[in-house]
Amino acid sequence: MLLGALEAGGTKMVCSTGDETGRIYARQSFPTTTPAETMPRILDFFRGAQIEALGIGSFGPLDLKESSPAFGSITSTPKEAWRFFALLPSLRAGLCVPMRLDTDVNAAALGEYTLGAAAGLSSCLYVTVGTGVGGGLVAENQLVHGLVHPEFGHFYLKPHPDDPAPRGFCPYHEGCVEGLVSGPSIEKRWGAKARLLPENHPAWALEAHYLAQMCMAAILVLSPEKIILGGGVMRQKHLFPPVRENVRDMLGGYVRHPAILEDTDTFIVPPGLGENSGVTGALLLAARAARENTPC
Ligand code: ADP
Ligand code: ZN
Repeated sequence: MLLGALEAGGTKMVCSTGDETGRIYARQSFPTTTPAETMPRILDFFRGAQIEALGIGSFGPLDLKESSPAFGSITSTPKEAWRFFALLPSLRAGLCVPMRLDTDVNAAALGEYTLGAAAGLSSCLYVTVGTGVGGGLVAENQLVHGLVHPEFGHFYLKPHPDDPAPRGFCPYHEGCVEGLVSGPSIEKRWGAKARLLPENHPAWALEAHYLAQMCMAAILVLSPEKIILGGGVMRQKHLFPPVRENVRDMLGGYVRHPAILEDTDTFIVPPGLGENSGVTGALLLAARAARENTPC
């Protein structure tokens, strides 16, 4: 079955076609400008491809409550043109196929859970550390939404005494995860592009320390069977060993499981699907929509 995947990002919209095995056939991306400009391009792509169902992983926050009048909308985003934009309804108005929408990180978590690093397990947490920080959770086969959906990037971390910018850079919260560890936060703190900072720069020890605090909270609160760290900042693969080591130290032997005490190399890991976690997850959302045959 030919499926469509839309990765709706704050910078670009990536449209793909593929199938339920995660194979990708075609891909095209458009800059995220205004809905009036961007939506017709997305609809043209998917209409031309003659897909049978569409899965969408989107930036948020999103209204994912089916009973809500604003179901399927992007809500309080700082991207003004997209604030309270009815994303799912406008896709449905232009394309009559079954559709399913979720957060970009839930889509990525679903991709990793089904076909990536967490295949065969019954839970995983996917965290992106990029322009922002967000986490998607699959628990006992369910994508977790709860009241709204998790906002994993915005809980408080304990500031490090050597941090030159311990308040972080989130406009909403002082000292939250995103404000301390996102790519732009690193760049503001040190005044240089993150990808250009050498491995021995103090930025990375501090980053590993904060990411370990974040993983520790995830382990204690959610108890996922695997933590997958993706996004642009995690292209710095040298971060993984110190993150794992800090997690072991911080937990102080309290959580007694081999995944934490011995096998952290396979517990806190990069995405098994590389850069394709999100698109794969969106294809799987499309497959779910097709099975449910949600009316358009
Ligand atoms: P997005 O979060 O916008 O979907 P990414 O996950 O690629 O996109 O994150 C982009 C951010 O990640 C950039 O703004 C930059 O700060 C950071 N980044 C990108 N590549 C690297 C790299 N190789 N090393 C460190 N940081 C990077
Ligand atoms: Zn915040």
